[in-house]
Amino acid sequence: QAKESGKDRVELFSDATRARLLRRIEVEQLLRAALEEGLLEVHYQPQVDVSTGRLVGVEALARWSEASPAEFIPVAEETGLIGPLGAWVLATATRDLAGWHARGLTPLTVTVNVSTRQLEDPDFPIVVATALATADLAPECLCLELTESALMGAGDASLHCLRMLKDLGIYVGIDDFGTGHSSLARLKSLPVEVLKVDRSFIDGLGTEPEDSAIVHAILSLAHALGLHVIAEGVETPLQAHQLAALGCGVAQGFLWSPAVPADQIPAQAEIGTGARPRMNRHRGE
Ligand code: C2E
Ligand code: MG
Ligand code: MG
Ligand code: MG
Repeated sequence: QAKESGKDRVELFSDATRARLLRRIEVEQLLRAALEEGLLEVHYQPQVDVSTGRLVGVEALARWSEASPAEFIPVAEETGLIGPLGAWVLATATRDLAGWHARGLTPLTVTVNVSTRQLEDPDFPIVVATALATADLAPECLCLELTESALMGAGDASLHCLRMLKDLGIYVGIDDFGTGHSSLARLKSLPVEVLKVDRSFIDGLGTEPEDSAIVHAILSLAHALGLHVIAEGVETPLQAHQLAALGCGVAQGFLWSPAVPADQIPAQAEIGTGARPRMNRHRGE
């Protein structure tokens, strides 16, 4: 065994590590070119009012043929490409939202994911304000979402940036809430208005009592702090029914739709109304 670890040290990298590093370099180069050539897309996942089934918003999710967001977003963050990528997603999402509004899909909001790396750029509020102004949108139409773990590590400059965005009238939300160990003191001081319950707690809604208890606790906390709540990762009518019963107003998930290209959004205006009879059937079970 000693011999083996000695050999490892001489080799420096295992085959697996070397393959990972090479792939990372490849993704960086391809992503840089894809951004320049306009090869990325934004897809939109519908967000539904659980009690009426109506489409109330969409979440913008970056799409690229070469890799999943789980692979290319971290590379973009490490290399700084998240700056141009994020600005492009913002410009695209606000332009698409203005187009839906013009077609009568209103009220409708768009949520855009933001990395803390973007908040560290002092020009970020200008990037956001410019996107809104170019699309001629009111700031209340836009929600910027940061993951809970990213927010917990955010420094003073990032928090200052968030406060400026909130003062502009934009909504700021915490993504994947419940997984990032935020202290309640920290939560109280953050300039956020929306909590998005992580999908790991939605999984067992209606089947695991602990998940229902956690979602219930998050809803109480949000209510006490005057925050909006949205649930992500809803896959079954039972979960949707449980959310409605717990008083969680808005949700998104494969039950209604995955993220789809922009031109498919207008057809989704009544998306959740078809799911209601199925939810009602659960109520009778
Ligand atoms: P997120 O913001 O938490 O987005 C939700 C993810 O869950 C999306 O994965 C979505 O496709 C997936 N999802 C939605 N409904 C369901 C469901 O019912 N069940 C399951 N199992 N999954 C569901 P996606 O698109 O692969 O994105 C992954 C993450 O990448 C996002 O997590 C977000 O953190 C990040 N991301 C995506 N686009 C952007 C972007 O433009 N900028 C930044 N900074 N991050 C982005
Ligand atoms: Mg998100
Ligand atoms: Mg999330
Ligand atoms: Mg997530």
